[in-house]
Amino acid sequence: MSAAPQFKVVVCGRAGVGKTSLLHATDPAARVTAPQPTIGVEFITRTITVADGRRVCLQFWDTAGQERFGAPTALVYRNATAIIFVYDITDRDSFMAMEHLLGAALAVPNARSPYVIIIGNKLDLASTQRAVTTAESEEGCRARNYSLLETSAHTRENVDEMLNTLAEELLARFDHTPPAPVEHVRLRLAGTRIDAPSAPPRAQCNC
Ligand code: GDP
Ligand code: MG
Repeated sequence: MSAAPQFKVVVCGRAGVGKTSLLHATDPAARVTAPQPTIGVEFITRTITVADGRRVCLQFWDTAGQERFGAPTALVYRNATAIIFVYDITDRDSFMAMEHLLGAALAVPNARSPYVIIIGNKLDLASTQRAVTTAESEEGCRARNYSLLETSAHTRENVDEMLNTLAEELLARFDHTPPAPVEHVRLRLAGTRIDAPSAPPRAQCNC
C-alpha cells in the first residue's frame, strides 16, 4: 500500500478559544481535561480514512500567539496546505480577530493557496452564551470563500466532520500535485530555541 499523503495544517486563533482542546478531541480515546496553555508550537498527527478508502495524514501545528513571542509567522505558515482559524462562539472579539490573524497567515508566500476552514468552537454553550450567530459567520465566510463549521471540543460535536472535511478537501486539491515536503525549521519562542520538525516523527503519524 502506498504511503498516505501528509498535509501540514496550521491551527490559529486567539488564546482560550479551544484550539488545543479541539486537537485533543480529534482522538476519541483522549480524555477531556483542561489543557495547559500552549507555549510554542505543538504537533498532533491524525490519520484519516475518507469515504473511498484513501488515507490521509494530517499534521496539525497547534500555535499559541507566535507574534507575542517574536517568532516569525512565515516559518509557521510556510508550506501550510490548510489553515484552521478557530474562534469561540461566546466571544465576539475572538471572531473579530479573524481578519487580522488570517490576514497575516495568508500573507506568507506559499506555492499553493492554503485551504481555509473557520471553526466556531464551544457550541455546547450556544443556548446560553452565544455571542456570534451562525448567520453572521456564514456571511463572512461565504464572502471570502472559506468553509465554516461550529464545533464543541467538549462534546465532540462536529469534530469528525472537521477532520473529514479537511481530508476530503486536501485530497481533492492536491490529488495530482503532492504538497511540497517541508524542511526542518528552527523557531525561537519565548526565548527558547526549539527545533521544530515541520513533519512530526513518522512513528507518531502511523502513516
Ligand atoms: P487554546 O488557547 O485556544 O488552545 O484553548 P484551550 O484548548 O487551552 O481551551 C481554553 C479553555 O476553553 C479551557 O478551559 C477549555 O476547557 C475550554 N474549552 C475548549 N473547548 C471548549 C468547548 O468546546 N466548550 C467549552 N465549554 N469549553 C471549551
Ligand atoms: Mg493551546
